[in-house]
Amino acid sequence: MRLVVVDVDDTLYLERDYVRSGFRAVGAVIGAEEYGDLCWELFLAGVRGDTFTRAAVEIGIEPTDEHVARCVAAYRGHAPAISLLPDASALLARLTGVAYLGVVTDGPAVSQRAKVLALGLERLVDRVVVTDELGPGRSKPHPAAFELLQKHAGANGRDCVYIADNPAKDFIAPAALGWRTVRVRRPDGLHAAVESGADVGQVVETLAAVCLDAA
Ligand SMILES: [Mg+2]
Repeated sequence: MRLVVVDVDDTLYLERDYVRSGFRAVGAVIGAEEYGDLCWELFLAGVRGDTFTRAAVEIGIEPTDEHVARCVAAYRGHAPAISLLPDASALLARLTGVAYLGVVTDGPAVSQRAKVLALGLERLVDRVVVTDELGPGRSKPHPAAFELLQKHAGANGRDCVYIADNPAKDFIAPAALGWRTVRVRRPDGLHAAVESGADVGQVVETLAAVCLDAA
């Protein structure tokens, strides 16, 4: 493989750790640790999308738009307490100097950059692409980020691989470009229950099982 590109959330670290860290930061900003704990409990119960409103109601805070906006800003902007999973560190170390290493990650630029910083990815890979920084509508499954990295590496599609976790959006563009695709299906990943589509070439439970020898 000439070019190995990895996703970030639930590929290199567990996204649930980011969520826990984010709610803790929100609790600190609101001045109520128990508010952050409640958000986390709601997350564990499967609540998505209106967590800040529901937690506010439960704890007796008025769930104004201003309150929710403050929580969202605190969550997205916080410096997360997250770290690379051991198999992720090992994979990046194994590929350093062997292949051109890239990252493609979706999500608000401020959040994704904070994750990249916390994980030390700028030191570990050749190029980090945060799709939010490419302009509107460039998040996965848009091919822009993948095309950009392939061009930088000067590689043919068959010599490129994308390693990621979300079958709903991650593999569409790289597969269309002729890349190999590897899904890491971590048991604690947020998308672990989703079945793989035809655009997934290989499924592994840990990055230690990724085999990148020529097909
Ligand atoms: Mg992911």
